[in-house]
Amino acid sequence: MSVNSTGVSITVLLPSGRLPLDIMKASHDLATKYGFSIYCSLLQNIRLINVPEGAAEQVKSDLASLGAKFKAPGQFPLPRICIGKPHCSFGLVDTEKLSNELLDRFDGRGKTKAKFRISIAGCTVGCPWTKNSDISIMASRVGYSVYVGGKGGMVPRSGIRIKKKATEQEVLDIVQTLVDFHDLKTKSKQRMSKLIKDPDFPFSEV
Ligand code: SF4
Repeated sequence: MSVNSTGVSITVLLPSGRLPLDIMKASHDLATKYGFSIYCSLLQNIRLINVPEGAAEQVKSDLASLGAKFKAPGQFPLPRICIGKPHCSFGLVDTEKLSNELLDRFDGRGKTKAKFRISIAGCTVGCPWTKNSDISIMASRVGYSVYVGGKGGMVPRSGIRIKKKATEQEVLDIVQTLVDFHDLKTKSKQRMSKLIKDPDFPFSEV
């Protein structure tokens, strides 16, 4: 939750970009009641913007009672995923399933240090900015490729490929190794693009 001159901003997390109907309805009802707006963020969450300061706790409480979770420091980042199989004709894998498996793997992990993003693409087209994410997983006909060190922003760069033809289990293990390495080498916040130059970085470009 953040406050600015026009009101409070509350980000409701939506794993895999899925918006439960009860949260959608409650958000609509609350927005109508309190006169705020709803922004669909580039990270596949919804942000309630211009929420009157006096109503913010009530809005959060109403949505939390439906199971909504809110953005807060130290959370493991929700992967940004494309719609994947079977909803896209190019899709080779069920991206939602892989995203959920990743979140299950890191569920209960203590504070995750900032700042890295994960993306999952259902094919090599790479719609969810796959090569410009810190950790990118891209499905192909012969397994998954994993890229590390991409970033967007003012100085964008593509990640390097550290694995190809990987199984789903190998992908999960690689992400675990990367997140552990990031935790080990990061004081408070760091992008993966810096870590790939570290002499101890556990992968090579392939
Ligand atoms: S990355 Fe591939 S599967 Fe995913 S939306 Fe784009 S074209 Fe479809």
